[in-house]
Amino acid sequence: MASHIVGYPRMGPKRELKFALESFWDGKSSAEDLQKVAADLRSSIWKQMSDAGIKFIPSNTFSCYDQVLDTTAMLGAVPPRYGWNGGEIGFDVYFSMARGNASVPAMEMTKWFDTNYHYIVPELGPEVNFSYASHKAVNEYKEAKALGVDTVPVLVGPVSYLLLSKPAKGVEKSFSLLSLIDKILPVYQEVLAELKAAGASWIQFDEPKLVMDLGAHELQAFTHAYSALEASLSGLNVLVETYFADVPVEAYKTLTSLKSVTGFGFDLVRGTKTLELIKGGFPSGKYLFAGVVDGRNIWANNLASSLDTLKALEGIVGKDKLVVSTSCSLLHTAVDLVNEPKLDKEIKSWLAFAAQKVVEVNALATALAGQQDEAFFSANAAAQASRKSSPRVTNETVQKAAAALKGSDHRRATNVSARLDSQQKKLNLPILPTTTIGSFPQTMDLRRSKNYVEAIKEEINKVVKIQEELDIDVLVHGEPERNDMVEYFGEQLSGFAFTANGWVQSYGSRCVKPPIIYGDVSRPKAMTVFWSSMAQSMTKRPMKGMLTGPVTILNWSFVRNDQPRFETCYQIALAIKDEVEDLEKAGITVIQIDEAALREGLPLRKSEHSFYLNWAVHSFRITNCGVEDTTQIHTHMCYSNFNDIIHSIIDMDADVITIENSRSDEKLLSVFREGVKYGAGIGPGVYDIHSPRIPSEEEIADRIEKMLAVLESNILWVNPDCGLKTRKYAEVKPALSNMVAAAKHLRTKL
Ligand code: GLN
Ligand code: ZN
Repeated sequence: MASHIVGYPRMGPKRELKFALESFWDGKSSAEDLQKVAADLRSSIWKQMSDAGIKFIPSNTFSCYDQVLDTTAMLGAVPPRYGWNGGEIGFDVYFSMARGNASVPAMEMTKWFDTNYHYIVPELGPEVNFSYASHKAVNEYKEAKALGVDTVPVLVGPVSYLLLSKPAKGVEKSFSLLSLIDKILPVYQEVLAELKAAGASWIQFDEPKLVMDLGAHELQAFTHAYSALEASLSGLNVLVETYFADVPVEAYKTLTSLKSVTGFGFDLVRGTKTLELIKGGFPSGKYLFAGVVDGRNIWANNLASSLDTLKALEGIVGKDKLVVSTSCSLLHTAVDLVNEPKLDKEIKSWLAFAAQKVVEVNALATALAGQQDEAFFSANAAAQASRKSSPRVTNETVQKAAAALKGSDHRRATNVSARLDSQQKKLNLPILPTTTIGSFPQTMDLRRSKNYVEAIKEEINKVVKIQEELDIDVLVHGEPERNDMVEYFGEQLSGFAFTANGWVQSYGSRCVKPPIIYGDVSRPKAMTVFWSSMAQSMTKRPMKGMLTGPVTILNWSFVRNDQPRFETCYQIALAIKDEVEDLEKAGITVIQIDEAALREGLPLRKSEHSFYLNWAVHSFRITNCGVEDTTQIHTHMCYSNFNDIIHSIIDMDADVITIENSRSDEKLLSVFREGVKYGAGIGPGVYDIHSPRIPSEEEIADRIEKMLAVLESNILWVNPDCGLKTRKYAEVKPALSNMVAAAKHLRTKL
């Protein structure tokens, strides 16, 4: 019985690639140094998989930045502004596309499906001359072979590649990216010919777009592409890999009818309907790559239950045609549990990172072949049982409280306009009130200083004084006591664990270290009241209490898989509700509950959107449904791309929402122009905090005036796009000063 891994993390167990990249970018090390680190990482990954007994080991899933950008390089689709003159693409052109250079900005980056990984979006048009310009796939295949490992080279499939692209600037809106298929296939053909010549016997095409809502025209492109490649593919075994969801019925039919394809890979963790599809018909003689080991999470596999699934599949596709695999690339999970010596032993026994998942895949394959490793399976069963019964996982009180939520909508008793009236009586704010999003520049990590309470108090005091001098209306304390907006809360809540090295690549060299939610969530004691009331005591102006919302905490964590996501979210909501009420009791009258990641959790398929949005928005309302009318609830979101979910945003029923706006060419405002009724307070960001540029008063005033054209002046707030944490005071002070001046100037005209 064979085993297969879809893809593997590149960063290395201790983020070796990150440090090598950053040192190269800083000019502190040479291209050869970087190549050496990269080659060492690749060889250790291949060796590890081969030692574990994996039969189908991937190559070309390593990347110095991004696999989609690698494909752009392979196809020679370099946008003209990078001045590439042909020839093999090297680091200079490659990293210019990824990160920009002194004279040209980077290519756009966007989220890879519903993961926290970001890829570089290809920019294509009718003018692009595709040519074979990066031999990376072939080189890596040969490199592994020289090390004695015969790998499966992995390519981003041609159809997904085009569907993940965007039309280049200036290209007609009506241009169809798929019309380029016959122009890119010749390059794929050259790659395939070289791979064959180098001795490859299998090839893997990643076609994750097949799990999306595709139309007949798009499905047709798959049929066309894979039949056009037929001659090049003959003599090769071809795997088309899908992941992140099940493949819709029509796409499944198209996929399984591809004649030149030998094997199909499915995500059996998230693909809840895939099993039925396969039962309904699977082409005879073809391989099924069964993704039973979760690549999106850090939990140990339930081996006994996976084995049952695999046995059922074996009955359908035949013993020699079933391959045990991961649900998707392991890129989206942490690298190696070995580097977590401080993690609690019991919790650790419940986990599996990429290195451990490789072993699980192999253990399942050997078990299917009749040689079950009894010791491994029984240790796994014991860990599963301990996780099920552990008192650290289950908290009866929390379970009961969460269950009791059902049946109520948790809406505040009074409608938003009446609430705003009561709040205004208390707050007495000017028209176009000014505020900021929460964090102020972080000059150093004060949490490490010896007398950290004093150091933080001093910092808060400084931030308060600055805001008073700037004459901002609603103040913030600046968040100097926080490391990260999720970690800070996770560390104080029960049910969360933290890793030392559980990094996951977000983009380029950037990694995140999500907390692990392993148990029922509760709040042992107040988390922010101490600092917020201290800050409030320093000023007569309203000081915003600052919390991270339940949906954002959920979406930026590794979430338990033994109960639905919404149940975990409701539990977090109850913990945040306690905090909101404690802040209110402590005299904080404005409380901001950030939901920066609400949109990120949106499922891939449209049919699942409303279910998610309902429980997500409900969770948010739970946090603040119990406050007085006079307590003003703010929320904040850092993306402007929410025209499609505007009704859910309204349904959150916050009193004030601050949102990113300045980079979006007013896409946001168009919603209101088109007549969406909005009665709550709203602060579309008036300047971009991602750039060091200082906006002028005129330019900010201009933006506000554009907003006034579509929004009532009595609901409009004036604030930056997001928190100021990553900026310097030298930028923040003049920018905010211009912002306040613009607001004041416009007040006189209203
Ligand atoms: N309150 C947070 C801050 O200002 C919000 C950050 C975010 O939205 N990402 O830093
Ligand atoms: Zn933000």
